[in-house]
Amino acid sequence: MAKELTDLSRLCIHTITTKPWPIEKSAQEFSKKGVGGITVWRDALQGRNIAETGKMLRELNLEIVSLCRGGFFPALDQKGRQAALEDNFRAIDEAEALGAPMVVLVCGAAPGQSLAESRKQIQEGIAACLDHAKAAGVKLTIEPLHPMYAGDRSAVNTLAQANDMAEALQSPWVGIAVDIYHLWWDADLQNQLIRAGKNGNLSAFHICDWKTPTLDMLNDRGLMGEGCIDIRQIRGWVESTGFTGFNEVEVFSNIHWKEDQHVFLDKIVDAYLKHA
Ligand code: ZN
Repeated sequence: MAKELTDLSRLCIHTITTKPWPIEKSAQEFSKKGVGGITVWRDALQGRNIAETGKMLRELNLEIVSLCRGGFFPALDQKGRQAALEDNFRAIDEAEALGAPMVVLVCGAAPGQSLAESRKQIQEGIAACLDHAKAAGVKLTIEPLHPMYAGDRSAVNTLAQANDMAEALQSPWVGIAVDIYHLWWDADLQNQLIRAGKNGNLSAFHICDWKTPTLDMLNDRGLMGEGCIDIRQIRGWVESTGFTGFNEVEVFSNIHWKEDQHVFLDKIVDAYLKHA
């Protein structure tokens, strides 16, 4: 079991968690609270000078942890796969401009072809991005998604599959983002975390909670303590591998987005200290 968290230095919040706020407002409010890091979703950068935005975040003492997201490699035809590669090159360029060391990959799946074929295309797609990633100094982190998203969002659904892929690609520019929402149910999770750690592939750690019932497949994540995940136990497993990175709060929630975001941010901080 991990030790209780007593400060916010390793707390990172995803911009999508406080989606009703523009990135400038989120950054100011996170910074005021003493939150240590921020993960930036690409939609939050729309219409902005990305390098200037990166500078603004650093000036507020926020460490830029990741850019979310690239991926969606599989497609039924070559044209679609090429378009996906070009979008991933753009994501890498945006991360470099922002000063983010990682691009998180939601790997994709194409209805109409097998998951095995989609996985093959994902691995080939990541391989085709590696020169670009290396030149930019940006790591590509594979995020396995819960099997309920296997139809169209990701054919990578377990940490074992992500480990297989990262080990096959064998590059310092490939890592894995472990999100407890997607992986908490897996009886093999602890073993696979150890494996990821041993191979130097455990790059990011995302937290929230799993609610029962879940009212929306995408936008009903719980804040830590609202659901049934033993977050502290899993954080303990993650940290026992030597991971010292951020605990990234990533909550998509129609319910929380309706709240006053100041009140919600107070709840995030409180939940982080009590339940993470
Ligand atoms: Zn995540």
